[in-house]
Amino acid sequence: MSPTAIYPGSFDPVTYGHIDLIKRATRIFSEVIVAVAKDSHKKPLFSVDERLQMLSQATKNIKNIYLEVFDGLVVDYARKKKANVLIRGLRMISDFEYELQMALTNRRLNEAIETVFLMPSEGYSFLSSTLLKEAASLGANLSSFVPDFVEKKLKERLRK
Ligand code: ADP
Repeated sequence: MSPTAIYPGSFDPVTYGHIDLIKRATRIFSEVIVAVAKDSHKKPLFSVDERLQMLSQATKNIKNIYLEVFDGLVVDYARKKKANVLIRGLRMISDFEYELQMALTNRRLNEAIETVFLMPSEGYSFLSSTLLKEAASLGANLSSFVPDFVEKKLKERLRK
């Protein structure tokens, strides 16, 4: 049994939805490693260091979490960390198909690792980093989606 869970993602950038999930995970596991994917097929807007820095600022008051960068297969990373639980979020039914495929692929790659799904507060169930970037580029007010400093960084980046 492992008291450690890994929450992997691109976090490009961190949103209140991610933070909600991290808090829920820390109520179940004694240690949560938030693992920022270095290589993302999604072509991130922010560098891995920027994503890590924003996560660090946004989660500074949450205890028992560790932030790290990883690359390669998440199951290999989990094995290295001696963790056997991956946390993923399910917002809507539309997340389900992709997340199920990924969980079953990861299970095939390493039978010892289980994926645990958490649901965010319904207020964040529609929130995605992708939509956020679109809204930011159109000048939307993002204060209910991300911390102020993230909104500022997003708008600065999208202005360039
Ligand atoms: P990835 O590129 O791995 O999907 P993301 O940063 O987009 O990385 O998401 C990481 C995880 O967090 C995914 O499981 C995703 O479903 C979940 N997630 C993202 N936004 C939210 C949200 N608003 N509420 C709950 N879970 C979320």
